[in-house]
Amino acid sequence: MNDPVLVINCGSSSIKYALVPADPGQPRLTGLVERVGEHDARLLGHDSRGERFERALADAGHVEALEAILDGLEGHRPVAVGHRVVHGGEHFTRAALLDDAVVAAIEQTAALAPLHNPANLQGVAATRQLFPELPQVAVFDTAFHQSLPARAYRYALPEALYRDHGIRRYGFHGTSHAYVSARADALSSLEGGNWLTAHLGNGCSTAAVREGRSLDTSMGLTPLEGLVMGTRSGDVDPGLHAHLGRQLSWTLERIDEVLNRGSGLLGLSGLSHDMRELESAAEAGHAGARLAIEVFCYRIAKSLAGLSCALPRLDGIVFTGGIGENSSLVRGKVVDHLPHFGLGLDRKANAATVGGREGRIDGRHPAAPRLWVIPTDEEGRIAEETRQLLGAATR
Ligand code: ADP
Repeated sequence: MNDPVLVINCGSSSIKYALVPADPGQPRLTGLVERVGEHDARLLGHDSRGERFERALADAGHVEALEAILDGLEGHRPVAVGHRVVHGGEHFTRAALLDDAVVAAIEQTAALAPLHNPANLQGVAATRQLFPELPQVAVFDTAFHQSLPARAYRYALPEALYRDHGIRRYGFHGTSHAYVSARADALSSLEGGNWLTAHLGNGCSTAAVREGRSLDTSMGLTPLEGLVMGTRSGDVDPGLHAHLGRQLSWTLERIDEVLNRGSGLLGLSGLSHDMRELESAAEAGHAGARLAIEVFCYRIAKSLAGLSCALPRLDGIVFTGGIGENSSLVRGKVVDHLPHFGLGLDRKANAATVGGREGRIDGRHPAAPRLWVIPTDEEGRIAEETRQLLGAATR
């Protein structure tokens, strides 16, 4: 494996990793450590032949977990580490080489992502301790959306809330939207296309991307805004919080918990947050599962229609994420809700483009916008941004 970059996505109790070689044709070593810090912590990895392996790591903290990850890399040593960092605020408009000043700036952004950024920084601290000689780069989920114009990122709130407290729309999943829109450009032989991208996983968001720049996106100050997600509500009436507080005496913590973890597909269906399970249940006649899928798809279409205002014309829509890559049902319903876009879905191609396949699912009418299914590659993009930044730094 030549010049691999180790990509780390560190959560409070899990560390996902991928060793990404410079040559995209070569296999990656991937895996995760789960339950970091607990007695039953373990490493689940894939070796270079794609075989799964597992190691118990009783009570391993972040440093021990990273040591175990290194042991599982079959003797390969990374040339750099790329860290996924959720929130870069307004400070980070692109990836940044990690030094003490950058770590301090990420710490200052913690108020905007109190769960994620401190966990990401634990991973940064552990890798800097283990590999003091290696360059390390932070790649931010928010950075791609820093190109939004003010009309898209400002809330209609008193100006001081923005000026003094950074309350504005930031957007997330930037690495994924950046990757799939660039890939759609390449696949369509367009220099800088006008795309609507839909990242539909457990978390879901849409973006309008023109010439490689994000112009609007569905997530906002937090990843709760926008689409219906696995367990997140997405958009609700902002008056809901006061209503629940006054009428049901719910605390802010309870409202936050219900909107983030008890809503979305799970809340609507009363059954599951998982689209596969909901599709089977809907097929079997479960009314809640059917409703959840209907609301989910309608809201995606509504979001795409809204975001189309950010683009001068539409070259196509890109579907990605676990649902976007696999659910021909969801893709079909979303397209059906957008008759005025003049889309022509090829139903056979739609049904066949699943399971990690990349492909075009429109009828290829020259005047119709394209419909792409593009498996996302956030790890590859983080590795690429890490390489680009280091290449620029050493030139
Ligand atoms: P995350 O956002 O956690 O990375 P993923 O991108 O893996 O999640 O997406 C998970 C979602 O993808 C789940 O709702 C899952 O049910 C859905 N999904 C995966 N495979 C299929 C499939 N074959 N058909 C429908 N939905 C699927």
